[in-house]
Amino acid sequence: MAEHPAWSWSDHERARLDVLLRHCIQCGLCLPACATWVATGDETMSPRGRLLLVGELLADPTASISEPSVRTALDTCIGCQACSAVCPSGVPFALLETAVEAARASTPPPDVPRPVPLPVLLRLEDRTWLRALAWSSARGRDLLRLAFGPHWRRRVQGRRLWGICARLAGSVPRAPRSDRELVACLDGLAKGPSTPVGRLERPARPRESVVWFAGCANEGLLPDSSRRLRELLVWAGAGLVEPAGNTCCGALAAHAGQPRRAAALQNANLAAWGTGGDAAAIVTEASGCGVAVRGYGDRLPLPQIDAMVWLAGAERPAFGRVPLKVALHDPCHARHAQGIVREPRALLRAIPGLILLEPDEPDVCCGSGGLWSLSHGDLSATLGARKARLLAATGADLVVTANAGCLGQIADGLAVLPGEAPPVLPLGDLLWYAALRAVRS
Ligand code: SF4
Ligand code: SF4
Repeated sequence: MAEHPAWSWSDHERARLDVLLRHCIQCGLCLPACATWVATGDETMSPRGRLLLVGELLADPTASISEPSVRTALDTCIGCQACSAVCPSGVPFALLETAVEAARASTPPPDVPRPVPLPVLLRLEDRTWLRALAWSSARGRDLLRLAFGPHWRRRVQGRRLWGICARLAGSVPRAPRSDRELVACLDGLAKGPSTPVGRLERPARPRESVVWFAGCANEGLLPDSSRRLRELLVWAGAGLVEPAGNTCCGALAAHAGQPRRAAALQNANLAAWGTGGDAAAIVTEASGCGVAVRGYGDRLPLPQIDAMVWLAGAERPAFGRVPLKVALHDPCHARHAQGIVREPRALLRAIPGLILLEPDEPDVCCGSGGLWSLSHGDLSATLGARKARLLAATGADLVVTANAGCLGQIADGLAVLPGEAPPVLPLGDLLWYAALRAVRS
């Protein structure tokens, strides 16, 4: 590897990385869970391969992290933590982020994907901008449908410019805007009588007061699904408190290498949540925000809990019957980073008539990875199509997931499959419908 005097790890970082390496017994059990290895078959794109590269960097003072093959291998890591979930040796994969961040901070060679520009990254904290993105992608899809017909996504696959436009428009998360549209979609899939549309009933008195934290992407891109999830939580007994001053969790700024901005956002949230009155917890909608909020650590005035975990533990009314076969996709930030596996399944199994289907490769990331998909477009699209194929292969009538990024990625992957593919919806929307069926039946 070429010498690169401009870059080196501090002693502290070296010590942290050394811990990581000493844990690894090189068994390779992590490889089938790693999306970048699954898609490429390249050892350097696997957790074990990345660890070996870090070991070489630590051992050789002349080695450079900005050498193209090293930088690419580290920069391509999605940070999904699937490897850490399956590693029998307890390799602390959070430490791998040290190497990944160092790689991303190094100067990229010309043939390596460029990082997403900072101004673009920070725009994604802005809900107004996200709403504009949702609106313009919807218009883009309308235009593509007009030009290429109902299967526009499949028809432009492989064309360079149109393909890029279609991928961008197709992967922006979306869900039915109106309750009527959602109910018509699910009634149609269930092939039953029409469900009267209305609001979910509120209990006479909330059973528990909680702080509500939706997150920028959900409020900006999926505002109606976010509103339905709030309604569902209230139906299930939550008293939602939304303190003035709730802001971005800071994850975007942290990933963009802006620690001071991330800290300022964290402090603003902590100050807002300190005014949460008698709230018992902070309920987070987006799993990525949940992980970021957990990262506030001891400074949190209340425990953080994912909305699906709260719902699964609530003494709620019974759901109504939904006779559908449903495949569930777990977001990595929920499954691997927060260990949320049982709760969404318990909620779906509580719906009479619903058959829950599990796809193959449940540990493998769908390739969204938030902003990762923007800087690794081709690999991200490959992974999205693979995930969509596995979900469709279950024979499900419907796919659900609880994360906005996964929703857009899977919708785009399903749209390029040949033949009829099931639709994908937010998990919260399906649960809201099941609650509505109980109220109205
Ligand atoms: S599973 Fe763990 S111990 Fe085995 S190769 Fe992967 S990181 Fe190393
Ligand atoms: S975090 Fe995900 S992409 Fe990165 S090495 Fe682990 S499994 Fe692979």
